[in-house]
Amino acid sequence: AATGALRIVTDSADGIRVTARAPGKVNLTLAVGDLAADGYHPIATTFMALDLYEDVEATEAEELSLEYLPGPFDTSRLDTGETNLAIRAARLLAEQTGHPANVALRITKRVPIAGGMGGGSADAAATLVACDALWRTHLTREDLCALAAKLGSDVPFALHGGVAVGTGRGDDLTCALVEGRFEWVLRFSAEGMSTPQTYGALDRHRLTFAEQLGPTPNPEVPEAVLTALRNSDVRLLAECLVNDLQAPALRARPELAEALEFGETHGALAGIVSGSGPTLAFLAEDAAAAAALDRALRAEGHHTLRTRGPVPGALFT
Ligand code: ATP
Repeated sequence: AATGALRIVTDSADGIRVTARAPGKVNLTLAVGDLAADGYHPIATTFMALDLYEDVEATEAEELSLEYLPGPFDTSRLDTGETNLAIRAARLLAEQTGHPANVALRITKRVPIAGGMGGGSADAAATLVACDALWRTHLTREDLCALAAKLGSDVPFALHGGVAVGTGRGDDLTCALVEGRFEWVLRFSAEGMSTPQTYGALDRHRLTFAEQLGPTPNPEVPEAVLTALRNSDVRLLAECLVNDLQAPALRARPELAEALEFGETHGALAGIVSGSGPTLAFLAEDAAAAAALDRALRAEGHHTLRTRGPVPGALFT
C-alpha cells in the first residue's frame, strides 16, 4: 500500500480517523495535440509536485459526506455532493472493494480552486489513500493508480508526486530523475478558469489560423527539460518552461500577461501559466531571489505564495 507513517486516531466522539495529504502541481512543459475522436486532447507534459497540499481527514461515519475546513480560499461555491472529486473517489473505492462508502471527509484546501494546479485531483488522490487505510482495503499503489485514472487525468500524478512525464491524457506516467529542489513563487488569481474553456479556445485559435500555423506537431516532452532536472540546472529549466495553453489563457485574461512580465522583470528566471491557468508560476534562481520576487509582487498587490518542488505524492500525515 501507500508509503508514509499511518496514523490512526481513535476518538471516542468521532470514531476512527485517518488523515492524508496530496500536493498541487505545476506543468513545467505542456504540449497539447489536436482534439482526438474520443473527445480528448493527447498531451505530453512534465509535472512537478509542489509543497502546497490538500489535507483530507477521513472519519468513520454512518454515511458519505464532505465539508471544507477554513483555509486560504473561499470554498463556499464548491459542490460538496456527488460531483465533487473527493466524493467520487470515495464512492469509486467503495464500489471496487465492496466496502460501504461510510466516511465523513473534511478537506483543508490550499491549492487554488480552478487554478490549473490540480487541486481537485489532489483531493481525490488523498481521499483514495485515506479511505483505503480507514477501510483497511489495502489496495496496491498500482490498483490505486488505476482508480485514480478513472477519476481524472491529473489524479494519478497527485498520487505519484515528484516529477513525472505524463502522456496520453496525462495519466500515463513515467518517473523523471531530479537532483535538488527548485524555488517557485506562485501568483494566484481571484477568479478561476475553466479547463475545458481554455482547451476550447486553443482549438478555435488553431482552426482560425490553420494556414499560418500548419499541422500541430505530435506532443512531446523536450529532452532538455529532463537534462535540466537531472543536473539541477535551474537556468536551463527556466529556458525549457513551455505551455501550449498559455497563449489562450493570456488572450482570455490580459492582466496575466502583465503580471508575467512584471515577475520576469523583478527577479524571476522565467514565469509560466500553470496548466490551464490562471495561476502563474515563477521559477527563481534560489531562495533569496524567490523572497525578493515575492516581496516585489506583494508590493504591487498580487496574491502570492512561495513554494518548492518536487515533493512526494499522496501520503498519510
Ligand atoms: P486541473 O489543473 O486539474 O485542470 P484545476 O486545478 O484548474 O484543475 P480544480 O480546482 O481541480 O481545477 O477543479 C476545477 C473544477 O472542478 C472546480 O471549479 C469545481 O467545479 C470542480 N471540482 C470538483 N471537485 C472538486 C474539488 N474537490 N476541489 C475543487 N474543485 C472541484
